[in-house]
Amino acid sequence: MKNYDIIIIGAGPAGLSFARSFKDTKLQVLVLEKSPLEKIAKPAPDGREIALTHLSLKIMTEQKTWQALPQEVISPIQYASVVNGDSPYSLNFDHKKAKVDALGYLVPNYQIRQAIYNEVVDLDNIEILTDVTVEDVNTDAETAFVSYMKSTDANTISTAEMVTAQLVVAADSRFSATRRKMGIPCQMRDFSRTAIVCRMQHELPHKETAYECFYYGRTMAILPMNNRVSSVVITMSSSAANTLMNMSDESFNRDIEHHFQNRLGKMTLLDKRYSYPLIAIHADRFYANRFAVIGDASVGMHPVTAHGFNLGLQGQHILATAIKDAATRGKDIASQRILKHYNFLHQQNTRPLYHGTNGIVTLFTSETLPAKLARKAMLHLANNAFPLKKLISNKLTEANQGVNLPKLPLPFFIR
Ligand SMILES: Cc1cc2nc3c(=O)[nH]c(=O)nc-3n(C[C@H](O)[C@H](O)[C@H](O)COP(=O)(O)OP(=O)(O)OC[C@H]3O[C@@H](n4cnc5c(N)ncnc54)[C@H](O)[C@@H]3O)c2cc1C
Repeated sequence: MKNYDIIIIGAGPAGLSFARSFKDTKLQVLVLEKSPLEKIAKPAPDGREIALTHLSLKIMTEQKTWQALPQEVISPIQYASVVNGDSPYSLNFDHKKAKVDALGYLVPNYQIRQAIYNEVVDLDNIEILTDVTVEDVNTDAETAFVSYMKSTDANTISTAEMVTAQLVVAADSRFSATRRKMGIPCQMRDFSRTAIVCRMQHELPHKETAYECFYYGRTMAILPMNNRVSSVVITMSSSAANTLMNMSDESFNRDIEHHFQNRLGKMTLLDKRYSYPLIAIHADRFYANRFAVIGDASVGMHPVTAHGFNLGLQGQHILATAIKDAATRGKDIASQRILKHYNFLHQQNTRPLYHGTNGIVTLFTSETLPAKLARKAMLHLANNAFPLKKLISNKLTEANQGVNLPKLPLPFFIR
């Protein structure tokens, strides 16, 4: 039976970033991924444009994945505007006032995954096994045991294989089967809503401005990409989303133009529309015996505040730093002390954001009269209350300074 120091389940962006954190260490790492190699080695566009914070930029720069991104796929967000219902009033943010070059950066998810994969694939101490599905995880006082099945065609009989490690880290999505297997409960919230994402070209310049529009019936985020292109993210009830997904391109273009009140003039769909069901999860704790969860397996966020991958990067960084420190000192890399330390620090980051984001979604998708009044009041308060604006600005600059700073549950561009 082959033995490793760390086994990572899932080669998504969180699992691979975590693997990359062990470059230049003596730790032997195995990554197990159920998708075929080509899906991981050459990720396809999936419509998601990830709004990255300054802290993510810092971690990605350390990992050299930021430098590996083609410059033309990085789009700075310099201004942001939040609108509510049918009111022309907006809550505005300006990168100059926040004393940063940009409030955040938009990068296609598949490009991020490609950059991370390229950084990991040739590392001597990292092995990636694709086409394998983890079936079981067990741990005792000294060892973690992982069994997996190879994906095969219908004519081949697959047998389970087992590998061992000091520590198993699950990055196997928000629906993590291994999290459940290891007895970690989680809170799950199904919003019964769907996000539709796509790229659209437009007649008028976006001026590097991100719009978060909390309309009645739907929310729309229009996020500036390079040139006259924006990423459009619409969240609405799943039944309404079906209608929008099945509309002709022409009708879809007119629908988005109309709802966005022609701010960008004529808009044209550039490629496919992608849809994602909106289900958020938060694990009650991020560890068990010789086991930890990272990425969406620890916290799967509603995308309205765009924190999912940012939190994934932050969490893996906290855990990897503690592990590397223990390894340097010749200590057990999977001790309860280390895992509890990770849990303590990262829960402080994730809990306020998770509950705050869900609160924002509840308020801004509710259309009762009191909710409409509260929505209006909240925007006016945020715009005019000096301490709140200052707090938001501070949060932006703080993102450059620490790794486990608690964050406010604010839209993606306000971190
Ligand atoms: C519409 C949308 C917009 C978003 N926008 C933003 C944004 O602006 N900013 C941001 O920070 N985040 C954003 N996110 C969130 C972000 O995309 C996710 O947080 C991130 O992709 C999660 O990465 P992950 O590696 O944790 O999980 P995943 O990408 O889900 O990867 C899990 C991997 O585990 C593998 N796996 C699962 N089970 C097994 C098993 N049993 N054995 C082996 N392998 C297994 C899967 O095949 C998969 O490759 C957005 C999400 C959506 C849907």
